[in-house]
Amino acid sequence: MSKDFGWPNSSKCAVMMSFDIDGETTWSNGNKGYENGEYYLKSLSIGRYGPKRCVKNILELLDKNNIKATFFAPSWIVEKNPELIKEIALNGHEIGHHGYKHERFYDKTYEEQVEIIDKSQEIFERVIGKKATGFRTPSGDWAEFTTKLLIDKGFKYSSSMRGSDSPYKTVIDGKETDFIEIPTKWELDDYVQMAYNLFPAEPVGQSRISGYDSVFENFKWEFEGYYEFGLCISYMFHPQVIGTPGRLILLDKLINEIKSRGDVWFATGSQISDWVRHNV
Ligand SMILES: [Zn+2]
Repeated sequence: MSKDFGWPNSSKCAVMMSFDIDGETTWSNGNKGYENGEYYLKSLSIGRYGPKRCVKNILELLDKNNIKATFFAPSWIVEKNPELIKEIALNGHEIGHHGYKHERFYDKTYEEQVEIIDKSQEIFERVIGKKATGFRTPSGDWAEFTTKLLIDKGFKYSSSMRGSDSPYKTVIDGKETDFIEIPTKWELDDYVQMAYNLFPAEPVGQSRISGYDSVFENFKWEFEGYYEFGLCISYMFHPQVIGTPGRLILLDKLINEIKSRGDVWFATGSQISDWVRHNV
């Protein structure tokens, strides 16, 4: 299970803290399946809570702990919250591509994907002065040609897949490329463990929010494993979920638990992918 990444500063493992600022987009997409779904304002407000309140609190927490993170943002959110996105970037965090309105990429044509990517990059350039080089596919899936398209469009890495517990060089047509995948996992995702709405049901079929102690233990146990085997753990948080008052304390406690090891490298997606590209 161990893999020698030779992480910087003799660190034993790498930790990528990522936050998907989906805001209203996921709820708006989900509501579309219902009659009059556009008027489900309460569910939209759950998403709105992320950019409205939680991101700033998360920035404070990261700053206090001297951690640089990666924020994946649908560019519709960037357009609607330019000052907030600028603040994230000015604080030294990375902003990654996450579609325009959190569209699923697996059923989009090549031309449609190009349109979403280009339109979003223009918005990034306008708001933060540069294009994104990292990509997280909205809702976790894409079409077979998407990887090559991302490379052609100048992306350096993705954090979308689930099929490994360590970063790897993506293979296309049998050849290893410089395009790095930093996989994440559902068990490292706050959404599946703690997101909740009565109607439309989220999560479908689960009637309770998981106990916070259990969630903390899940996050901690996975860290124990990644640390033990010298890998790169990629947490996937959502401000609207992890950013409630109580869960912010949970996150702070998790960060402190990880930091107490001393030899851990907290890094952004770009830093991790650069390292893997040149040193592994
Ligand atoms: Zn998302």
